[in-house]
Amino acid sequence: MTETADFMMWDASSEREWASRVDQLIALHRAGRPAIPVTRAAPVGDVEFPDRPLSADDYLEVLADEGLEHSARMHRPDCLGHMTSPLPGFMPQLARLVTALNQNMMKTESSGALTLLERRVLAVLHRMVFNDSDAVYRALRDDPGRIAGVIATGGTLANIGAMWCARKRALPGAGAWWRQLRDQGYDDAVIIGSRLMHYSFDKAADLMGLAKGALLKVDVDGAGAMRIDLLDALLAQCRRERRKVLAIVGVAGGTDFGSVDPLGALAERARAEGAHFHVDAAWGGPFLLSGRHAPLLAGIGEADTVTLDAHKQLLTPLGCGVLLYRDGGVSRAVMASAPYAVRPGSWDSGRFTLEGSRPASALYLHAAMHLIGRTGYRRLIDASFERARSLAGRIAARPELELLLEPVSNLVVFRYLGAACREREAGPEREKEINRRNVLLHKRLREAEGALLSRTERVLPGETGPARVMLRAVMYNPLCEDALLDRLLDDVIRTGRRIDAELAATQEVCHV
Ligand SMILES: *Cc1c(COP(=O)(O)O)cnc(C)c1O
Repeated sequence: MTETADFMMWDASSEREWASRVDQLIALHRAGRPAIPVTRAAPVGDVEFPDRPLSADDYLEVLADEGLEHSARMHRPDCLGHMTSPLPGFMPQLARLVTALNQNMMKTESSGALTLLERRVLAVLHRMVFNDSDAVYRALRDDPGRIAGVIATGGTLANIGAMWCARKRALPGAGAWWRQLRDQGYDDAVIIGSRLMHYSFDKAADLMGLAKGALLKVDVDGAGAMRIDLLDALLAQCRRERRKVLAIVGVAGGTDFGSVDPLGALAERARAEGAHFHVDAAWGGPFLLSGRHAPLLAGIGEADTVTLDAHKQLLTPLGCGVLLYRDGGVSRAVMASAPYAVRPGSWDSGRFTLEGSRPASALYLHAAMHLIGRTGYRRLIDASFERARSLAGRIAARPELELLLEPVSNLVVFRYLGAACREREAGPEREKEINRRNVLLHKRLREAEGALLSRTERVLPGETGPARVMLRAVMYNPLCEDALLDRLLDDVIRTGRRIDAELAATQEVCHV
């Protein structure tokens, strides 16, 4: 322990030493045991602000004690529970570069040419989604007052930004939004999406100060796509009740089922209604890079705004969401300036972003585009769809498991049935029992191996209830192989049988 801060800590040799220690730490973490549940992790240390600085060795010990050792192991090839995959080896190293440069992308004074790199990356993504002409991209390149999109810390912020933009476009005046609404002859304002849209829209509606119940959720068909007949009926009702539709939201790759809304039909309704059309393609956007699966997203190019999450299928580190504007001019709806930084007429991207200071995450996207390329992503995406089908087939072939939905894209949901539940009479009691066992099963699996699968509870597409507990596999992990799928399913069944046996034993005791 040292008495005062070591002011050599800015030194190149200190940096080298840290690099090698962190490398060791990463290797240890990867070789380590499965994560243990947070409730049983080491207790968090004392909450006094540390007084005297620690040496590197002492600090790393503290870090291990405080849970690093037991953190989740997201690099595993059989980690299929979540939308984050193991990162390609160049990413953590580029993260070092981004941190070492420590650019602030908010203003050009602290980002320099990286602002231009960011603008180019956004134009490339814009072209992937909207495929405008060269002239459009040249004009965007030369105009500091418009932007193809913004990089945010994630899909949530991008969706909130899109709803902000929708509100500003619908109610552009300077007065309070509800007063403008009344002046336009409306009593209320709403946002419409499917019942499977992401909960970031609940946050957005709340932040916008919309009334409770102003986020209208339309039911879906058997494949999880929004039902247009119900949307039409709802739009007619909104007109009758003088509720202004600020935005219609289409989902392109839903978080639960990977489902996709009929985007072309939604675009048409939004146009007719004069509403902003936003597509949440946080998960599914990169399907556009696959010739075979891009048609799933037909109509996405008609959106006013599109959310992408690069930290999901584009494999960048976390903290990299994207909001794209079809018409760069639309970005002006939310433009702001501040005298100390983001000056009018400047190239400062902070004029357009909800967030202030931002890291140079654009660099990850730039690297991924060049180092993985369209060909690489096409392969990854095509393989993920195939693996989803392969998992679905393996589930269907095991009578103790139930495939809950034919996969629409690369997410798979299923549950454990077991002999005990399979033979019970259909009905709410049986469903309740199956739900209970699947919750237990998921917890048991998580304790043994970490969260290799996730769990969700939803009314299935095409049903009206009750909600079913399901195990969810996100089939994007590029390291996963078919052999691992069999092992995973065998584990699920083995664990399920054990739970069945335990429950049967306790029931027998009760009956005696
Ligand atoms: C993941 C996801 C989000 C939220 O993104 P974050 O990066 O977690 O904020 C929004 N919508 C969909 C469809 C998603 O899959």
